[in-house]
Amino acid sequence: MEMEPRCVHCGFGIKTLFVQYSPGNIRLMKCENCKEVADEYIECEIMIPLIDLILLKRKAYRHFLFNMLNQEIYTEGILWKTSFLFLMLDACGTLVLNRSQGDRCLSSSSFSSAWVCGKMLVHVFLGNLVFFYVLVVATRVLLRSSSKETRYKDLLLAILVSSYFKIFLLAMMVWEFPSSVIFIIDGFVLSSNAISLKVMTEATTIRCLGACFSAHVMKFLACQMLEVISSTSLRYFRINC
Ligand SMILES: [Zn+2]
Repeated sequence: MEMEPRCVHCGFGIKTLFVQYSPGNIRLMKCENCKEVADEYIECEIMIPLIDLILLKRKAYRHFLFNMLNQEIYTEGILWKTSFLFLMLDACGTLVLNRSQGDRCLSSSSFSSAWVCGKMLVHVFLGNLVFFYVLVVATRVLLRSSSKETRYKDLLLAILVSSYFKIFLLAMMVWEFPSSVIFIIDGFVLSSNAISLKVMTEATTIRCLGACFSAHVMKFLACQMLEVISSTSLRYFRINC
């Protein structure tokens, strides 16, 4: 089921965003609630909403989440594609962190490559399982007073799309950056996630920030725990082999 388009200024539902008279000749509709043009991004080049997205403007989030992704291309496919991209970028982040912390104790044998790959996969899947579980629970607990019911599929899509800052992790695979840059990227992802959650649920900013912050912290703690377990098991393996 598709979500109905929304006014990018106030989030009010609207039947149609524009009326097309002939190819290239459209009239943008006004919002009944705030009397502004419901979505002026329709007439803009894609770069304009993208810049506003990076500037964390809520109206750009509404444009992408309600008026763009939920239209013709809003199918199961987009959820799978964004999930795959999200996990891939997360794997890049884990690899960069491993490289900077240096799994120095490992030699360049095939065992070490398999070990690093296995560790990365476990980190990515378990870390994100914890992340989304905590996010869903926190959304239920913290945002239960919010007026709008949000489907979990929409919530998942909002979080995946708003994690676009992770794309900078690709640059870190190519060029050397201090590992602290990963935490700066995480900070941007956290604020972007909170804004998309706010746009989706219409809850207060502090509650959305709280829900996203707890999910990010629990993911970090889960990854730290996995790191301790993996280094302990590696030591055990070395002693016994
Ligand atoms: Zn409006």
